[in-house]
Amino acid sequence: MYNVAYVHDDKCIAEKGCRLCIMYCPEADTIMLEAGKQKAVVVTHRCKGCDLCMVVCSTHNAITMHPVNPATGKIILEAEQGQVAGLGQAYAG
Ligand code: SF4
Ligand code: SF4
Repeated sequence: MYNVAYVHDDKCIAEKGCRLCIMYCPEADTIMLEAGKQKAVVVTHRCKGCDLCMVVCSTHNAITMHPVNPATGKIILEAEQGQVAGLGQAYAG
């Protein structure tokens, strides 16, 4: 089980020119501007879960970290970072 970043469209202000998370992410092509929506978006399978984007977006709180189900590769939005241990057991089977 590991964590990845997720951008909440309702809080992201990329349409007003913010690119902080995109500039600070150390992984190439991982958090990008989604052209149609004009919101930041995370490429889940590239994200290393370093938390940096969440930290630089602390003013708007548009980014949260969530566990990924290792079996499916899908992000588990219902759970936040602190709940990883319990979910690890719940999703183990
Ligand atoms: S730093 Fe936050 S508000 Fe700015 S583009 Fe990234 S997610 Fe959106
Ligand atoms: S958690 Fe790290 S690797 Fe993942 S999108 Fe944010 S800055 Fe990039």
